[in-house]
Amino acid sequence: MPADLASMDHSELLELMNELGEPKFRAKQVLEWLSRGVRPAGMKNIPLKLREKLAEIPYGGAEIIERRYSQKDETVKFLYELDDGNIVEGVLMSYSYGKTLCISSQVGCRMGCAFCASTLNGKVRDLTAGEMLSEVTAVERMIPPDDEKKRTVTNIVMMGSGEPLDNYDNTVRFLKRAAAEDGLGISPRNISVSTCGLVPRINDFIKDAPHVTLCISLHAHNDEMRRRTMPIANAYSLSELIPAAKRYADETGRRVIFEYALIEGENSSDEDARALAKLLRGINCHVNLIPLNSVKERHLSGVTRQRAAKFAELLQKLHISATVRRELGTDIDGACGQLRNKYIGSLKEEGK
Ligand code: SAH
Repeated sequence: MPADLASMDHSELLELMNELGEPKFRAKQVLEWLSRGVRPAGMKNIPLKLREKLAEIPYGGAEIIERRYSQKDETVKFLYELDDGNIVEGVLMSYSYGKTLCISSQVGCRMGCAFCASTLNGKVRDLTAGEMLSEVTAVERMIPPDDEKKRTVTNIVMMGSGEPLDNYDNTVRFLKRAAAEDGLGISPRNISVSTCGLVPRINDFIKDAPHVTLCISLHAHNDEMRRRTMPIANAYSLSELIPAAKRYADETGRRVIFEYALIEGENSSDEDARALAKLLRGINCHVNLIPLNSVKERHLSGVTRQRAAKFAELLQKLHISATVRRELGTDIDGACGQLRNKYIGSLKEEGK
């Protein structure tokens, strides 16, 4: 049984009710509250005695403590405080089809990618499944859906801080609860998990979460280039990563998404586009191009939108599906880890 209440599923809550000497039907009632992110004190149809007992169990919450609204688009950036005081961030983006929430899977990250703000101070700890669910339900409590039966958040991307596949069991548990009818009820097709490429875990993922969209942060078309910015490339070469991606596409029948951040003078020339197309030939895939967001602490810069568009055009000519990702929330530190770092930095300056 998980340590925190918000991570539990129906069968675990049944076990808990049994241990507490409570009738079975309470499990379903508690689960309904949990799926809306309500802590024991607010579980109105639960007797006070039981609420008190439940309040003694760690909850696994994430409360929004700061919001930033973009002036340019409808993007909202959040800082969440976890019950132990750690801070993670999330971003809510509006599209024509609904709202996508980008959530974090770890406090910090230990993958060490050279361009990423989330990894600057290493990993602090993994998030529980309950905490990841709380990131979603906290947004829904803030922006309730028009229709009570519907949800505000229609899509989830695990592209915030952390490496989801480095927190594998909690991530899979989260994905199951997010997709479950008695959980968040979000179709797994509308959920994406992004990984820097932990090959053995990708193989597990194909079995454990076949309906979830897999995104792989590639950012390079050969090992030498990839090792310059992504330490994980020392552990797994492209000769292992690319077949794992192909296996995902072949076995699930779903397109694998490759993320490719365009870095000035590094991986973004016409020649690089041709080499990338060659690497990906024969894989049912799509390439998401992102002009690198410059991070103050890092000395790498992104390409212009024009260069990105040209790169995409070249890939398309070579029959590789590619688009340049729309930039959202650039005025509110939309990129990974940026806002959390600023927040923690400002606390340090204030001497807290
Ligand atoms: N650890 C996972 C998910 C988190 S990052 C992963 O590596 O995929 C989500 C995406 O943002 C990844 O593709 C990551 O490489 C990318 N990213 C990180 N910092 C960036 C930056 N400064 N500019 C553009 N993309 C960035």
